[in-house]
This record gives sequence, C-alpha cells and structure tokens, in this order.
Amino acid sequence: MLVSAKEMLNKAKAGHYAVGQFNINNLEWTKAILLTAQECNSPVILGVSEGAGKYMCGYKTIVGMVNGMIEELGITVPVALHLDHGSYEGAMKCIKAGFSSVMFDGSHYPIEENIAKTTELVKLTGELGLSLEAEVGAIGGEEDGVVGTGECADPNECKMIADLGVTMLAAGIGNIHGKYPANWAGLSFETLAAVSEKTGDMPLVLHGGTGIPADMIKKAISLGVSKINVNTECQLAFQEATRKYIEAGKDLEGKGFDPRKLLAPGFEAMKATVKEKMELFGSVGMA
Ligand SMILES: [Zn+2]
Repeated sequence: MLVSAKEMLNKAKAGHYAVGQFNINNLEWTKAILLTAQECNSPVILGVSEGAGKYMCGYKTIVGMVNGMIEELGITVPVALHLDHGSYEGAMKCIKAGFSSVMFDGSHYPIEENIAKTTELVKLTGELGLSLEAEVGAIGGEEDGVVGTGECADPNECKMIADLGVTMLAAGIGNIHGKYPANWAGLSFETLAAVSEKTGDMPLVLHGGTGIPADMIKKAISLGVSKINVNTECQLAFQEATRKYIEAGKDLEGKGFDPRKLLAPGFEAMKATVKEKMELFGSVGMA
C-alpha cells in the first residue's frame, strides 16, 4: 500500500539521514527501485514528473502499475508515489488518480501566488492524508522543459511557505538538475543553514542529486536535508550498461534480442545505483 511521505521524512529528519526520491520512467525503473528498497530495508519515494506521467500513459496507469508491483513483489517497506515538479492542475490530477504525495512547484510564480496556490493544496492534501512538497527559489538546469538558473532561495520566503503547513520544502541552494557543469560553484551551505534555522523541523528537499559529491551530500543532510532527488544518475547507469551490452554484440548472440535480456544489464546497473545512494543517504535499515 502506498503511504504519504510525511512519517518517513519526519523520522529521517529526526534521525539525521535522508530518504531518496528516485524518478521512474517505465516498468523496469519501478521494479529496480522497489526491489532495491526492499533488499535494503529502506523507505523510498518514487518520483514522477509530468512528462514521465504522459510517457507512461497517465497517472492512473502509473498508480495501477505501482500498486500491483507492491503487492506482487511483496514490498513491505514504506513507498510513497510522488508527483515531481507538479503544476497546480497536475497535482489535482495525481490526487484524483491515487498518488500518495505531490509536489506543487510554484517557484516560478510571484511569492504571493505561490502562497495562495500552496495554501489551497495544503488544505486538500491535509484532508486526504497525503504529503505535499513546495518549492521556493527555482532549481537550476532543465527538467521536462522547466528551466531554472540555480538561484538561492530567500530564507524568509522559505519560512512563509513552511508555515503554511506543507510536509516538506525544496529550497534552491545552488543545486542544478541533470549533470553539473565543470565550473559549478557547489552547494550554498550558508543558504541551507539559514533556511534550516528559519524552518525548524521541516524536512528539506535537495533536488538535482546526480553528481553532487558525497561529502556535500553528507553535509547537506547534517544541515536538515531529509529527501534527496535522484533522476539523471539512474538514466546514465542504464544507458552505460545498455551501450556496453550492444557494443559487445550480445544482442546478436542467441536470443540476446529478447527485451528481457536486452534490458537486464541496465536494470541491474540501476539497482546498483539506487543501493549506492541509499547507503550514502543513510536510509538503509530505516524502513
Ligand atoms: Zn527537481
């Protein structure tokens, strides 16, 4: 059964570790992440962007697939199904379809409008027992056509949004979606510390987890980050293993063309990546 991300993130914040959000694209992604979470006895959040939602034939299809897999694979660790960078309309659709968690990304609106829309969603998700993530300060890079520049959030604006009663808060601290450029300035721990001080017990979310060095991840967790989003890293692991398989000519040997064989190396590579992240975030054994 899907659960809200609230309890797992409050426990992570109190226990000084972070829960990974791993974005899904299809059945292989979902199965790899769920099985690894179970093997690691770790809570997990499955992230779905609006683009991935369309690709997977809509939110109802995803809810059906994830619920079916949880049952058939005997997954007993807490699993939240979460809309990533949702619009207001997207969040409403996911709530109707049976997601257990949504993000409303109002960071591109003026703060007053972000507050008004977030307030409405706080009320609705609260009534339904779902978790809600809000964002202040756009996150750099490109995600499904949403382009940001990696700005740092205003800690006072973070407090205003946190005080509305959201479950978790994403604050820009110089992080970027996708691969980090060579001249990246690193995370702004000064901003993170200021946001953390203003928002108290609120679990903070670090987007763009791919390629942030391990020591920076650990420091971010020590300063109040309780949820870390990983997307590109699974894609790169899948791509690299699949490329190797084809370049080695294995798809041409015997039944190597069978999709269950062709996709297997990428699947295993994703599992290894998810496990590595859960170990780094400290969520192993915390289910
Ligand atoms: Zn993000």
